[in-house]
Amino acid sequence: MNKTNNLKFLNILSEILSKRLSPINTMNSINKLFKDYLNAEEIRYIIWDNNNMSLKDFNADIISEEHLTENQIINYVYTNFSINKGKTFYFNEKEYHCETTEEEINEIQSENDEINTLMYPIIANGEVFGLIKLKIKNTKPDKDLLALIKISTMLISGSIINYLLNEQMEISLNFYKAMKDIAKIIESQYELSYIIPLIGEMIDRFISSHLIYIFIKKENEYKLVWPKACKDKQIYKLLEKLTDKTEYKISKDGKIGVFPITNNETIQGAIVAYSNIEKLLQKDIDYLTQLTRQSGLTLQRANMYAEVLKYATMDALTGLNNRRQFEIRLNQEVANSKRNNIPMCCMMLDVDYFKKVNDTYGHAAGDCVLKDVAQIIKNEIREYDIACRYGGEEFFIILPQTQIKEASLVAQRLRKVIEESNIDITGTGVKNITSINITVSIGVCAFNSNMSADEVAQKADKALYKAKTTGRNRVIIA
Ligand code: GH3
Ligand code: MG
Ligand code: MG
Repeated sequence: MNKTNNLKFLNILSEILSKRLSPINTMNSINKLFKDYLNAEEIRYIIWDNNNMSLKDFNADIISEEHLTENQIINYVYTNFSINKGKTFYFNEKEYHCETTEEEINEIQSENDEINTLMYPIIANGEVFGLIKLKIKNTKPDKDLLALIKISTMLISGSIINYLLNEQMEISLNFYKAMKDIAKIIESQYELSYIIPLIGEMIDRFISSHLIYIFIKKENEYKLVWPKACKDKQIYKLLEKLTDKTEYKISKDGKIGVFPITNNETIQGAIVAYSNIEKLLQKDIDYLTQLTRQSGLTLQRANMYAEVLKYATMDALTGLNNRRQFEIRLNQEVANSKRNNIPMCCMMLDVDYFKKVNDTYGHAAGDCVLKDVAQIIKNEIREYDIACRYGGEEFFIILPQTQIKEASLVAQRLRKVIEESNIDITGTGVKNITSINITVSIGVCAFNSNMSADEVAQKADKALYKAKTTGRNRVIIA
């Protein structure tokens, strides 16, 4: 090849690389160029895979096992490149310094006139990242050819590194976003029954080949808290092997991993990844280790919060009375009604298809709905009525000194106002939508003097259930 051709070659190469095609298209174009200009028979890009701690073909998941000895050579060459900090190259399985003089190059004899093999390191930030292997037909290397290959490998290296970084960044970006999301959720949440499924679903998204289970340790026993069932005995056996000092345990066949959730060095529970087909990859183990740590902190905060809330009377998200306060107030009102023989009514309200709101618009939007519904309730009831957040998206309202007729009017009005409200969800990260609409179902009941507080609540709940089963967005009077 002459100098003009060399220039042309480099021009086309830079053009290919500047197009930012997909990795596979870029590599195909480069391969064609090498074939046309350099008589290259084959070109392989081999890179170091940090997740599996091994070399792999770029664009392939594993290093192909077709040529085991070839791969052994590649491993050997890669090691030497690393030792020599990328300052050498290989020609027909012999190592040469990149600064080899012209005379020395002329002495390079190809043992095989047909096919010559060249290997050059891929370097990023002074570290060897992988290598490029070229098989060239009928070409005895001279100084120009070696210089040309050296420059092209450098250019291609740069591009491969960019692809790798982008790929890695995308995974970690999603990962860290998920971590941030979960941290955000618990800022306003403390109910474990709400948080644990979120953690489970989030981990599920990252470890797709395995089933995920979450266990909480209670009185020295691991209790499954997410999802609903786990029958595999091996999992329980592996859990028993966890000690306070264990980081994680992987089953002998590599298919089950248990990751302890710890709190001040005692085990609070565990996250389990299970598959009967695939082994856990190092990448999955890394993710699970980090996610378990984050979950540990989340649960610890939730527990601390729950402890503090034992003395609180207000629900942090909505500002309504909390469940504990609700029970106290209901008992007081029931006692009062009995003593003075005055009427009293209760209503229980539940947001319809609320899970769908979370799933479609995210939990921050879901929280907006809860806050708005709480505000509407506050606006619509009288000053001496008592509104509480009963659970996730359930509300309870005590209406002292109220007849059932009046109570049902209040319920109907409430249902209508909520149905007609546009709930502002700006600032929750949802794109293109500023408000959403929801409906609620309400069960109303009247207190009669031989009922206990529990019975009143149950009666309202039953009416609510009927409102749900008969179509939602309605009021049912018990
Ligand atoms: P239905 O019409 O039968 O009531 O259906 P639903 O989807 O409203 O009921 P379901 O009980 O299936 O779902 C309730 C959801 O509420 C599940 C849970 O993740 C969510 N949730 C509970 N607490 C909170 C919270 O504090 N914030 C948010 N955003 N969601 C919550
Ligand atoms: Mg609901
Ligand atoms: Mg509900």
